[in-house]
Amino acid sequence: MELSERQEQIIEIVKPNGPITGEKIAEQLGLTRATLRPDLAILTMAGYLEARPRVGYFFTGKTGSELLTENIKKMKVYEYQQVPVAVREDSSVYDAITTMFLEDVGTLFVVDEHSCLTGVLSRKDLLRASIGQQHLNEIPVHIIMTRMPNITVCRKNDPLIEAAQKLISRQIDGLPVVKDTEKGMEIIGRITKTSMTKALVELTLEDRY
Ligand code: ADP
Repeated sequence: MELSERQEQIIEIVKPNGPITGEKIAEQLGLTRATLRPDLAILTMAGYLEARPRVGYFFTGKTGSELLTENIKKMKVYEYQQVPVAVREDSSVYDAITTMFLEDVGTLFVVDEHSCLTGVLSRKDLLRASIGQQHLNEIPVHIIMTRMPNITVCRKNDPLIEAAQKLISRQIDGLPVVKDTEKGMEIIGRITKTSMTKALVELTLEDRY
């Protein structure tokens, strides 16, 4: 996060003088307390300053990169998950390919009759199954999918960075976001490398704070 000149000035005043009240900071800058309020709120939310009621503001001593790490760790899967696309186990490879094109996704999830997760289909799974095959309409996806219990999943309250680590360590493009039910895992979302790209871009936008 880029700090404004005034925010930098506030930090320089608080660093040696903390705890210091908002009023005192305003006095030193020749401004009113009301004018400073938004800057103090931003600096506190972003973690540069800490506010103690009736005591004043302290400098936390955290560097920009420590604060960035803290903010990354606060990002949750549910904030970035996308809509999942699923097909049934008895769908044909042909239908799965059509669904992948129509829905414009790179990973399809496969579900049973209770809508619970049983498998995953990637682009290359479908390409591999298609090479040299004439009758894609007759091959059900459950024959070629990666199946449970070998599916890597995440849950909506997991830190996004944990999901990113799973994508890297398993060398996969996407993860289902699941909710545990009596019948199995219900799919409620999808986390992909695109979700990670969006999160990275969002870190540079100030309105997250
Ligand atoms: P591609 O195969 O198109 O490169 P991926 O890298 O996502 O796409 O998939 C690699 C393999 O891992 C495929 O066989 C796929 O079925 C499997 N796979 C994809 N996502 C998962 C997941 N979440 N859990 C387990 N296996 C997965």
